[in-house]
This record gives sequence, C-alpha cells and structure tokens, in this order.
Amino acid sequence: MALRTQVGIVGAGPAGLVLAHLLDQAGIESVILEARAREYVEERVRAGVLEQGTADLLDAMGLGERMHSEGIVHHGIYLRFRRESHRIPLSDLTGGRAIWIYGQQEVVKDLIEARLAAGQQLLFEVSDVSVSGFDGDSPRIRFSRNGESEEIECDVIAGCDGFHGVCRPAIESALTVYNHEYPFGWLGILARVPPSTDELVYTNHERGFALHSLRSPELSRLYIQCDPHDDIANWSDDRIWDEMHARFATNDGWELNEGPVLEKGITPMRSFIVQPMQRGRLYLAGDAAHIVPPTGAKGLNLAVHDVKLLAAALTRWYESGDSSLLEAYSDACLRRVWRVQHFSWWMTSMLHRLGDADDFENQLQLAQLDYVTSSRAAATTLAENYVGLEDV
Ligand SMILES: Cc1cc2nc3c(=O)[nH]c(=O)nc-3n(C[C@H](O)[C@H](O)[C@H](O)COP(=O)(O)OP(=O)(O)OC[C@H]3O[C@@H](n4cnc5c(N)ncnc54)[C@H](O)[C@@H]3O)c2cc1C
Repeated sequence: MALRTQVGIVGAGPAGLVLAHLLDQAGIESVILEARAREYVEERVRAGVLEQGTADLLDAMGLGERMHSEGIVHHGIYLRFRRESHRIPLSDLTGGRAIWIYGQQEVVKDLIEARLAAGQQLLFEVSDVSVSGFDGDSPRIRFSRNGESEEIECDVIAGCDGFHGVCRPAIESALTVYNHEYPFGWLGILARVPPSTDELVYTNHERGFALHSLRSPELSRLYIQCDPHDDIANWSDDRIWDEMHARFATNDGWELNEGPVLEKGITPMRSFIVQPMQRGRLYLAGDAAHIVPPTGAKGLNLAVHDVKLLAAALTRWYESGDSSLLEAYSDACLRRVWRVQHFSWWMTSMLHRLGDADDFENQLQLAQLDYVTSSRAAATTLAENYVGLEDV
C-alpha cells in the first residue's frame, strides 16, 4: 500500500530537515526518506560556520537553544600572509552581524530530535530510492525498507539528497550544468585540542593554503590544501602537524596546539551548479543543485536559504493556489547561489597556491590581500559576503 503525504523529501541533511520543519510550522505534512542510519547522519563532520541569517532562522524555528548554549559567536576572522595576521572585523563592518561556530552535525541532531519528538515521519536506512510522475500532478517516490518495496504518493518532491543523490540525475537531461574543478583539495582534521586562536585563521602560504577553524573550546578543526587525488593513508598525524606548523608559522612566535586527531579526510574542491533547479513538481535544494568550494563557508548556509524559499513558495501554493513563487523558485535561489559561488571562488583564488601559477600570480594574491586588509571598502566586501548578504 502506498503512503500518502503532501511533500515527499529525499535526504535528511540540513536542507531536507529544515524544509520539513518549516513545512510543519505552516501545517504542511511531509515524509523524509534518508539512505543512511540516524547515527551516521548525526556524526558526519562537515561544515561548522553558520551565517547570521541561518542562526536567526534556527532561532525563529525554536531550535536555537543548544546553539546558544554550546555554539560560539565570532565577530571577526584573521587573514594570515607574509607570516602576519590581519583581522577583518566582521561585525564592525556589517552593522553588528556575526557568524556562529556550531557544527553541522549538531544542527542536524537538533533538527532530527525535534522532528521525531513531534511524531513526524523520518525514515532512515531506505534504499533503491527513485522518483517519477513529477511531470504530471501525481509524483511518486519508490524505495525499499527492511527488504520490502514501498511507495509514497505526494503533491511535490523535494530533492534534498546532496551531490550524490538520485533526484538531480532524474532530471539532468533538462538541465544546464556548470562544473569547475579546482586542481587541489582540502585535507581536514578534527582534533581534540583547545583551539590555538579565538577566531578563524585563513592562511596564504608558499606551501599552500591552511585554515584554523574550531568546533568548541575543546575541539579544533584544521585544514591544509593538498593534492585532491592524494591518499589520506600517506598522511600520518605527525606529517599533518608538521605541515600545519610550517604553514601557520608567524613572525611573532604564535604557537599551534597539537592534540589527538579524531578524524581526517581529503575532500576535492569544485564549483557546480545546475540550472534550473526544478522540473515539474520536482524541486532541488542544497548540494543536490550546487556545490561551492568550502573556503567561503557557504554550503550549509546556501542549502538552508534554498529551502527557506521553497517552504515559503509551497505555503503560498497550499494556502491560495497561487503557484507564482514556485515557478520563480529556481531563479530566486540562483541569484544567491551565483553570488555565493563568486565569493567562494574569489576567496579560494586569493588564498590557495594555484596549480600552475607563476610568481606573478602569487604576487597578485598578496597585493589583493594587502588591499582587503587595509581598505575599509575592500574589507567590507569580504565581511558582508562572509556573514551573509541579507537581500540577495
Ligand atoms: C565531505 C564534505 C565535507 C564538507 N566540509 C565542509 C566544510 O568544512 N565547511 C563547509 O562550509 N561546508 C562543508 N561541506 C559542505 C556542506 O556540508 C554541505 O553544503 C551541506 O551538507 C549541504 O546540505 P544538504 O542537505 O544539501 O546535503 P547533505 O548534507 O549532503 O544531505 C543530503 C542527505 O541525503 C542523503 N541521501 C543521499 N542520497 C540519497 C538517496 N538516494 N535516498 C535517500 N537519501 C539520500 C544523504 O545521506 C544525506 O543525509 C562539506 C561537504 C562534504 C560532502
């Protein structure tokens, strides 16, 4: 027998979970299907920087309690080059806006707990998910659970299933794809050690980019630029720390704290966008539709922004039959997606050793960094994009 719901959501990442909450608040029923187990989804370490607008949305949804008690507000970031740190005072430059340091897995835990506590449907460990019927008015999602085939009939499908999901491939032939692969990746570690900095440090160094981020007063998250095809097995913990020490070194003797590495991995970097983000009654949101290099800390924030627009469009449609916001969904999202894509590319280009760059290009990067850290206008450009533009 088929399950029936209003919105069938594929994927329980930030996009799918936030969408389900917003719909629930508007009295719209949904079912979320997730391929992985709950524990896996809740432990997956990824992003950790929330834009002001994302934090405000979590508050407005009544889900900000733990973020307020365990998250950390940052009012600035450091850009480090020529072995010196320069602070960009984000809040001073943006009328008091800031960023929140709160791990994506913590956001996901809060969202899952609230969803299940409210008795709403969220099915983990489903497989063989496929979508159909979205060109007409009776979309369906087929899947397997516990060895049984099942089906959901719905009015609308939300493809929130990330970059490797099934929803985008189902409509890919009708999409324009923009793909840019960078000739480097990020080797990231999560380490049980108090952060060596009070705010994030973005470093341009002749050995390559490095970023000191954090997750809590006890947990540091650090990244170094690396070959995207390298094998993590080639990187012992000692080798990683040696490389970090070399890249973060300053003239004033700043010390990098070392501690046990809890997790490490290599992620390639790409910019990817499909246009449009919808076909018929199938709407893509988050990483299913676009990937940004993580230098601008935008992936999660962009996913949340998409579903905020999708929830508003669906609410209007259910309340009044007016489909104008749904028809405009893709264009409305893509305006911000391209702005963020440009910002992430710009940050990436300014801070990384570019594959075949000669010294001319390295000097241009330093000239750009000098400008961003000495001109209020240039610093404001970085700051307002980093905390998240309000009206794009
Ligand atoms: C390895 C990695 C590291 C990252 N690190 C950072 C970082 O350090 N900083 C940063 O800013 N951003 C980072 N990002 C980006 C950020 O985490 C993403 O932009 C964000 O997770 C997007 O949320 P989403 O809900 O769109 O997609 P996802 O979080 O990917 O969620 C999609 C969900 O769909 C599920 N799914 C997939 N296929 C199916 C299917 N067929 N059926 C059912 N469910 C399915 C997946 O299991 C997943 O739970 C990282 C991303 C990745 C992949």
